[in-house]
Amino acid sequence: MSAPLPSSPRDVLGRPLRDLRLSVIEACNFRCPYCMPAEQVPDDYGLDAARRLSFDQIETLVRGFAALGVRKLRLTGGEPLLRKRLPALIARLAAIPGIEDLALTTNGSLLAAQARALREAGLRRLTVSLDTLDPAQFRALSGGRGELAPVLAGLDAARAAGFAPIKLNCVVQRGVNEEAIEAIADYARRHGDVARYIEYMDVGTCNGWRRERVVPSAEVRDRIAARWPLLPLDPNYRGEVATRYGYRDGAGEVGFVSSVSAPFCGDCHRARVSADGRLYTCLFAADGHDLRPALAAGAEALAAHVAALWARRADRYSEIRSQAGASRRHVEMFLIGG
Ligand code: SAM
Ligand code: SF4
Ligand code: SF4
Repeated sequence: MSAPLPSSPRDVLGRPLRDLRLSVIEACNFRCPYCMPAEQVPDDYGLDAARRLSFDQIETLVRGFAALGVRKLRLTGGEPLLRKRLPALIARLAAIPGIEDLALTTNGSLLAAQARALREAGLRRLTVSLDTLDPAQFRALSGGRGELAPVLAGLDAARAAGFAPIKLNCVVQRGVNEEAIEAIADYARRHGDVARYIEYMDVGTCNGWRRERVVPSAEVRDRIAARWPLLPLDPNYRGEVATRYGYRDGAGEVGFVSSVSAPFCGDCHRARVSADGRLYTCLFAADGHDLRPALAAGAEALAAHVAALWARRADRYSEIRSQAGASRRHVEMFLIGG
């Protein structure tokens, strides 16, 4: 008989494993300069389907993580809506006991045609990345690959399919899209969405990150509050990544993800798995652990292997970012999906 599984392993800093971010594809149809710059990432990147975990492998993997206490699952990419038959995968994952919250992050470009099928398959929450409402700037921020109109059509289709509230991820960069702050808040308020402003992060190694480009969340919040007064809200749960505020006039809420100005490693309960089945225990990890061998032995073996890896985890990059000796070698964002 195999040894009983640790139901919720703790890492070196006492943090349990609660959330899983799973990339379903490495490829993306955009080339956002802060993530996957066109000059650095070839057009055909990530198109080799043979490298990806199959749906069977993904289901086994998620069963293993659920056995360890993971309750929240977010599918991401690359661009997850490029993965063929994604609704069929979602239906299988939604049925796994223990997975209480199933979400997806997308650039929204292919959402109009898929929103209803995703909803019917059991997807409950949707986050759409939206850094600007200016069509020309949108084109530039997608690396010349995307158009704003299909994304807005995708959002309309998603609301019509029953997704509510939809989260809108907006990465704010100094001197690039600061004027989008109010425009996106206004759009979110009018459509019943929740805008979430994300500090520009030094993820990966190819986006040329500079600290001067980071707009601290406090500044974004103050700009919004000057126009629409805010009041702080309690976190929905311990370890929530975004700090939440409500609009005093009752028009919903807004969130801020401040991983540069106010790191939250102490409560980080999140594991990430790339489309080729590697586990990353931090967004800024240099290397991943290949889960395929354990996966081949089934969900229980996978869970035991992940529990052992989690028990060795000591990552807290955002808290030590400025210290000498903090590694500058990081996995690329498009491999683990944020
Ligand atoms: N392609 C999908 C999308 O764009 O929504 C999912 C994957 S994308 C890597 C996930 C999120 O990471 C997006 O909201 C994107 O804006 C964010 N992101 C990418 N690079 C970033 C950076 N350097 N700093 C902060 N957020 C970043
Ligand atoms: Fe693609 Fe998303 Fe990265 Fe943009 S942020 S390049 S849409 S993976
Ligand atoms: Fe978690 Fe790493 Fe981000 Fe800290 S830097 S919150 S440990 S992913």
